[in-house]
Amino acid sequence: MKRTSRDSGFGSRAAILVGVAAVALLFVVTATLLGGAPPAAAASAGKCAYCGARIEGDGIISDGRSYHKSCWLQHVAPRCAICGETLSGDYVVQEGKSYHRACWEKHVAARCSLCGEILQGEYLKDAWGNRYHPAHRKETAACEYCGRFISDRVTHGGVRYGDGRSVCNICRRTAVDGAGEGRKLMAQAAARLADVGVAVDPSRVRLELADLTRMGEVSGDRSRLRSGYTQYESVTTVGGARRSEAVTVYVLIGMPRLETIATLAHELTHVWLSRAERLNTRPALAEGNCNYAAMRVLAAYPGAESTFIVRKMKESTDDVYGEGLRRVIRYVDGNGVEAWLRLARTRDDFPAGY
Ligand SMILES: [Zn+2]
Ligand SMILES: [Zn+2]
Ligand SMILES: [Zn+2]
Ligand SMILES: [Zn+2]
Ligand SMILES: [Zn+2]
Repeated sequence: MKRTSRDSGFGSRAAILVGVAAVALLFVVTATLLGGAPPAAAASAGKCAYCGARIEGDGIISDGRSYHKSCWLQHVAPRCAICGETLSGDYVVQEGKSYHRACWEKHVAARCSLCGEILQGEYLKDAWGNRYHPAHRKETAACEYCGRFISDRVTHGGVRYGDGRSVCNICRRTAVDGAGEGRKLMAQAAARLADVGVAVDPSRVRLELADLTRMGEVSGDRSRLRSGYTQYESVTTVGGARRSEAVTVYVLIGMPRLETIATLAHELTHVWLSRAERLNTRPALAEGNCNYAAMRVLAAYPGAESTFIVRKMKESTDDVYGEGLRRVIRYVDGNGVEAWLRLARTRDDFPAGY
């Protein structure tokens, strides 16, 4: 496994990713597997339940009935769903079908995407259909963004950033590391947001790509793994009233392109809300609004990766980010996008019933 270190060593990371996700990336699955000898035993004399003729000598009892051995083997005995031959001795039943152990191992058994060996009992499954032995969890890191186990076989390796994040080489292919690219993506996110009705002028926003340590410094909160943060500045208007305006958006450096776009869309929506004087909005509504706008922006980039990020956002167990988004979706489903845009700009909390 290829692993290189970037930057110098920084502190530990927390388990919650704020903004885009806080959801399990790996799921525990159990392979349903039974095995054993076919239901047959030596029988005493009697009539064959298949041909009706008397059984001379040894017969077979299967499911409480007696058979000639040859009748049972040819017509009654369970057969392998792969080769069609009679099953005898040790065999495997999976999802109602029976197999020779050798046929099952060769053609049916689920194999670990990381080591290639057969999976039995509990295994881990990521969102991309890869299955793994649970033991690999101790040997290798799962990618911070896609949840795949970082390995030559599954991700062609990966890197560990100086701030502690492990990122696979599939996600590294589109990772955003440069300020120039960041600004280009911010303009894209702003254009897509405008399509939704969230109009922000990105030229008035400063963008900084920051690692986790810097993100902790600027937000004053090191306990959470932040993917984005918007900083406001107090300004005095012509009339002398003080108001706050968003000036700097911080986005985590080295995230895959679509995660970066989603984060930029989320933060630019905070900027939009601040310009509508919505600075004391309840967190679930504010973050729900920003996640909803980000979700709408992701719809402009259809594909498996965008579907995956939207799923992470929708299924997040976080009661501000996940629950806030689900409540906004319910509101939009019931009232439409125009009503939601009004709600976002004029209200500090969800109306009753949402
Ligand atoms: Zn018979
Ligand atoms: Zn077979
Ligand atoms: Zn394995
Ligand atoms: Zn990845
Ligand atoms: Zn936010």
